[in-house]
Amino acid sequence: MTIKIAPRVTAQIPSGRIEVIDASDPSAIRLRVPSDPGTPYISWYNFRLSGLRGVPTTVIFEDTASGLVARHGNRAGYEDQWTNTGPLISEDGATWRRVPASYDGETFRFSFTPTRDVVQIAKFAPFGPERDEALLYRALSNPGVRHRQIGQSVQGRPIDMVTFGAGRGKPVLWIVTRLHPSETQGGFLLEGLWDRLLDPADGAARVLLERAELNVVINGNPDGSALGLSRSNAAGVNLNRMWEDPDPEKAPEVVAIREAMLSRGVDFSLDAHADQELRCNFIWPSENVPGWNADRAHQFTVFEDAWALASPDYEKGHPYPGGCPKEPRLSMGWNWIGATFPKSLSVLLEQPFKDISSHPVAETGWCPARARDFGRSLVTPMLAVLPHLAVEGADRTAACRAAG
Ligand SMILES: [Zn+2]
Repeated sequence: MTIKIAPRVTAQIPSGRIEVIDASDPSAIRLRVPSDPGTPYISWYNFRLSGLRGVPTTVIFEDTASGLVARHGNRAGYEDQWTNTGPLISEDGATWRRVPASYDGETFRFSFTPTRDVVQIAKFAPFGPERDEALLYRALSNPGVRHRQIGQSVQGRPIDMVTFGAGRGKPVLWIVTRLHPSETQGGFLLEGLWDRLLDPADGAARVLLERAELNVVINGNPDGSALGLSRSNAAGVNLNRMWEDPDPEKAPEVVAIREAMLSRGVDFSLDAHADQELRCNFIWPSENVPGWNADRAHQFTVFEDAWALASPDYEKGHPYPGGCPKEPRLSMGWNWIGATFPKSLSVLLEQPFKDISSHPVAETGWCPARARDFGRSLVTPMLAVLPHLAVEGADRTAACRAAG
């Protein structure tokens, strides 16, 4: 008698997310990607499959088209999130490879043969709470780095901010990541940035922190990360639509970050996101806010040119999809920051889920190692833009012109 062992699928892992329809047949494991509660967003999946070593396996996500009603506007000419891509798969919890998938307009399916008893499958490599903790403690291994818990999430998790190069009279730089919890690329970006900021032999990083203060909000939506949500927090709101008048009950995370920025000031800010459809690393300034002017446009040009030189993974020439809206949505973080700090440079970053078109890597697509490398390259554009920032209380226009 042969004993047939049913494959096991579980999303009860950190940042896990999937629903099982029928996992009894390895040649057609039928799953569903759940939307965030109360929203149409379908994106994030992250689960473990076990018991299928050496067994040809096909995984099918059903009903995926329903999530496409929540696409961003002006995307008619772009591929949707399911086309020409596939999941990242890991069999050691550390290294990730890309498995190609097909999409027929309704179901998303991929096939592979596990080589170990346990395999993890995700939209992008997860960045679980333990990695946030690791970022925090690693930063604090440098006694010059300061920490402040600026608030707490709906479910009481800490909103952690670390400050490199703290000091008055210097330009104040900010990085915020993962207001959208499935956009884990921002966490890997910080790991790479840490490699340089914490290396005493790194001359550019050392000079950056001598000349500027850098505040980093390690995770803007820790509840969403822990719960495996795509874009919401635990109260079911999109934290990147709550910046104008945040409700302290529903968006305490945004209240905390706003208050920290208002008390410290902002000369430069990078809001790190990821986009399911774009095939590039995309950055854009808050160019439609009141008070945008030629000096601020020049800051962005300096920043963008320097990043493109520092990393070929940033390629200039990718326009805002459908054109940047004429009216700013001040409910979005980068626009609110750009409007509230009228001399600042506020930049939106979108890393890809799929890959970049200029230098693709078929085996992995965009992946943690590449996001880390991209984070390492961020030191250069931040250093380059410093002389051009209009620091509150100091007229830096002359210095800016002198620096070109
Ligand atoms: Zn986002």
